[in-house]
Amino acid sequence: MDLLPFDALPAHKPRRFVPQGIDLGDWSQIAPLFDQLEGRAPACATAAGLERWLLDWGELNAAIDEESSKRYIAMTCHTDNAEAEKAYLHFVEHVEPQLKPRQFKLAQTYVAHPLRQRLPKERYAVFDRDTQLQVELFRPENVPLETEEARLSQQYQKLSGSLTVQFRGEEKTLIQMGRYLEETDRALRQEAWELVANRRLQEMEKFEEQFEQLVKLRTQIARNAGFGNYRDYAFRKLGRFDYTPADCEKFHAAVEAEVMPMVAELQAERRRQLGVRTLRPWDLAVDPLNRPPLRPFEQVDQMVSRTQEVFGRLDPDLAAGFQRMQDLRLLDLANRKGKAPGGYQSTLAEARVPFIFMNAVGLQRDVETILHEAGHAFHALATRAEDLYAYRNAPIEFCEVASMSMELLGNEFLEKFYATPEANRARRVHLEGIVNIFSWIATVDAFQHWIYTHPGHTRAERTAAWVALMDRFGGEVDWSGYEAARANLWHRQLHIFIHAFYYIEYGIAQLGALQVWANSKRDKADALNHYKRALALGGSRPLPELFTAAGCNFEFSQKTVAPLVRLVRGELARLPAER
Ligand SMILES: [Zn+2]
Repeated sequence: MDLLPFDALPAHKPRRFVPQGIDLGDWSQIAPLFDQLEGRAPACATAAGLERWLLDWGELNAAIDEESSKRYIAMTCHTDNAEAEKAYLHFVEHVEPQLKPRQFKLAQTYVAHPLRQRLPKERYAVFDRDTQLQVELFRPENVPLETEEARLSQQYQKLSGSLTVQFRGEEKTLIQMGRYLEETDRALRQEAWELVANRRLQEMEKFEEQFEQLVKLRTQIARNAGFGNYRDYAFRKLGRFDYTPADCEKFHAAVEAEVMPMVAELQAERRRQLGVRTLRPWDLAVDPLNRPPLRPFEQVDQMVSRTQEVFGRLDPDLAAGFQRMQDLRLLDLANRKGKAPGGYQSTLAEARVPFIFMNAVGLQRDVETILHEAGHAFHALATRAEDLYAYRNAPIEFCEVASMSMELLGNEFLEKFYATPEANRARRVHLEGIVNIFSWIATVDAFQHWIYTHPGHTRAERTAAWVALMDRFGGEVDWSGYEAARANLWHRQLHIFIHAFYYIEYGIAQLGALQVWANSKRDKADALNHYKRALALGGSRPLPELFTAAGCNFEFSQKTVAPLVRLVRGELARLPAER
């Protein structure tokens, strides 16, 4: 596939089960391998035989996973190439749907296997727990409901993505309008903000109806699986073995008690700097001192070499990992025509190496992205020696510790990109972003807890519940005249519609990242050793153990949050604001 930025990568280990030369885009060649695995399982007469079977299953999964990643990478690097698009869609339409039932069958086979109990307990505890859960939660009557849920989710995305406004004679998507909120001209910001808010309000009915259908479906899915409400079901389905709704409620309370005073302080400072009487919703994204954007680099190779220097200051192993990615051309970073938007890290599961994609244009946001995605890449590199495929991936709550820690740790060396005043400005923006996102995470999470534990609520009750959360976590923003926009603000949060309950993960991970950073301030080498050791565990241990290995507490109450907020407040006080 010459549409890939890198050359053919050798498999980390020679294949033992999947034939060389197999076409992994052709289901008729893959299916016999699933047949073989199914057929072989009963004949596994020893624990060692069953372990071999698990490794073969993992080898097949890794090969399929890598095929899927390569097709996705080729497509996103060449959106204008019809072949690349066709190859990716072929995989999504003809291979993925076939995989799902076959994987489920193997999971069932494994869970029912008489020798499973004889495998080393400690080693297989997490894998067993996850596989058993998958089997337990399955209900054939939920299959059509889940298909319907996916259809409705897609409708939400279609509606959201289709909205445009006429702005100064041009049609603009709502995403394109976002950048006008960073303009220093206040009247222009207001105009842009109002257009977007009003456009969303025009679709209010549709968003509400879509959401109500989704809630109804989800409630039914939960009932079919034997749960009293969808919240309890979602906690199981998302594999949240190690924290409960009550822990999330503690997080909400901690954000209210510890983070909100800090939000208020930052907003008061912003108001003073902007010289405005009250902060309006369109005053939140602009640089409060009206400075032009930061320019960390001109060329993308400068970004790469400076990032390399940052890792060189942090840790020799991380620096070597990033260098290796450059040597293997596992980075496609520059924005250019024909590239999909955004950024991601993807792991080539068979070669066991990471790939980073982004669209760098020379902004501070790009530096944040490369540090973040490099954190994910270090995670992939750290788990290379793990042979059980499932354990080469950690739960999302910890994956984001790997990436968010790297943002905080890397920011210590931003002088590789800037003179000190600009480096401090970038640090301030980053830390303020962390403070503010905590309040939004608490809002979005608490809202969903309310939704799914209040079956049969009316639309008015739902709106009132949201408004109460905006009062609790919205800070001191003056919404007068825009009450309807405030009451419907959640319509823009995609997760609420299409990934129910998936959001607090980012809050949990940020608490971990802040702890890693706090540790590094006491002893950098020790903090990084913990970080690397925790990454190397991949997904082989439960979340609390991954956090402990990283030197963090897996706990989200005030006890954990308070000292972290103190740390951020102290840092911000140290960084001069006006320059
Ligand atoms: Zn991430």
